[in-house]
Amino acid sequence: MSEYPETMQIEPTNVCNFSCSMCLNSGFKDNSKFSLPLEIYQKIAEESFPSISRLVLYGMGEPLSHPNFIEMLQIARRYLPKNATIFFTTNGSLLNAEKIDFILKNRLVDEITFSCDALIESESNDHGHSREVQEVETNLLYLLNHELRSLVKIGISSVILKSNVNNLGKLVKKLSKYKVDYISLSHLFPYFEYLMDEVMFTMISKEALPILEEAGDNWKELVLGYTRELFAEQMQVSYKEIYTKSENIVQKQRPFSEKYKSLLNKAKKRDVLLNISLYDLEKEKIKRLYNLEHIFSELETKAKEKGIDLLLPDIVPIYAERECPYSSKETLVIRSDGETAPCFNYLWRHDTYLNSHSRSSSHFSLGSVMEKTIKEIWNDDSHQKSRNKKKKMNENFPYCGDCSLSSNNCFYAIEDTSDCWGNEPFCSECPYSVNLIKCLL
Ligand code: SF4
Ligand code: SF4
Ligand code: SF4
Repeated sequence: MSEYPETMQIEPTNVCNFSCSMCLNSGFKDNSKFSLPLEIYQKIAEESFPSISRLVLYGMGEPLSHPNFIEMLQIARRYLPKNATIFFTTNGSLLNAEKIDFILKNRLVDEITFSCDALIESESNDHGHSREVQEVETNLLYLLNHELRSLVKIGISSVILKSNVNNLGKLVKKLSKYKVDYISLSHLFPYFEYLMDEVMFTMISKEALPILEEAGDNWKELVLGYTRELFAEQMQVSYKEIYTKSENIVQKQRPFSEKYKSLLNKAKKRDVLLNISLYDLEKEKIKRLYNLEHIFSELETKAKEKGIDLLLPDIVPIYAERECPYSSKETLVIRSDGETAPCFNYLWRHDTYLNSHSRSSSHFSLGSVMEKTIKEIWNDDSHQKSRNKKKKMNENFPYCGDCSLSSNNCFYAIEDTSDCWGNEPFCSECPYSVNLIKCLL
């Protein structure tokens, strides 16, 4: 095992010149603005950059809002190995012609993604950033038409919302006119309660969904008139039996119907549980998701015709393929005040609205670069063990998307200190691990 991460994601600043309503930047709880001091960045670079293979420069803010962003790229190129790659995402507004010329002439970056959330938001309301939108377009076109353009892989990222789902075809058509290398569409991370209704995915797994659908609308009869609370209580008993690998599901309180028990046993054979509560709450949305599958396949055909890579998220997660993108890419994340975290999700304190409940997410610190070396942070025994555990998600972590307790006030899922198997931090309801939220690493 290497003494240093393979990938380092460094947040140059958490300041942004835009204020998009869907972005964590508009409502993270720490509420302090930082830009990583250049001397600290230089210290990180001298120690660790010669040992890593990819540097990712973005976090919660706009990287180019850092006053020394270009110097950061220069330092990176100086210390990284020859074949290492440098990548950043940007809203594009500050990446002007002068900066593009300098970056390209000095080969300071290998890949740039333009995040189009601000563009899209401004188009969908009347009080958007029209001047900024023009600047973004001008900068993007300048980059795409540059004589050295072939040195950089250029992508555009955007989010899928209930309110834009029928316009995705137009959106992809519009974005494909820019002749970028790829378009990456992700679902929306619901940081705020009002965004719950905009989400176009379910956390119920692909393995469990057909079993839930088999019972159609008859769930209330199948669970013999349980109230939601009683049902959740009963599930705790049944899940314990399943988790302890008992052969039969033993009923300790009221009996479930034979049909329901047979569905539970069917789910058990696929190694999943049945989240009846969430299915009941999301039935109507799930019907709409089949239409989204159809839209996705049309988008794929259009993108293929235009020779653009279209990166799409899953709509219904595949439980068997759960994977922590940060652990599998051996990544360390450093935020703009020098604190570190295992992933973007644990960078800053925020709320999350998934599975029909809210969760308060904290910052999970692995140590500060102001006090420790990267080597000390990366090789800490407990962090190493935690990373290794996350390389086998299904063996080591429960999955809340298929657990009826998740939308019934499970006290583990309301906070994020640990899950019901005792893992810290809480990774059991992570939309990155099931390819719903696309991770740009
Ligand atoms: S431009 Fe990007 S980082 Fe800035 S507020 Fe909008 S989505 Fe967030
Ligand atoms: S932590 Fe998740 S899987 Fe465990 S009981 Fe709570 S909701 Fe269910
Ligand atoms: S929350 Fe998700 S991305 Fe973060 S460490 Fe856990 S599994 Fe990985």
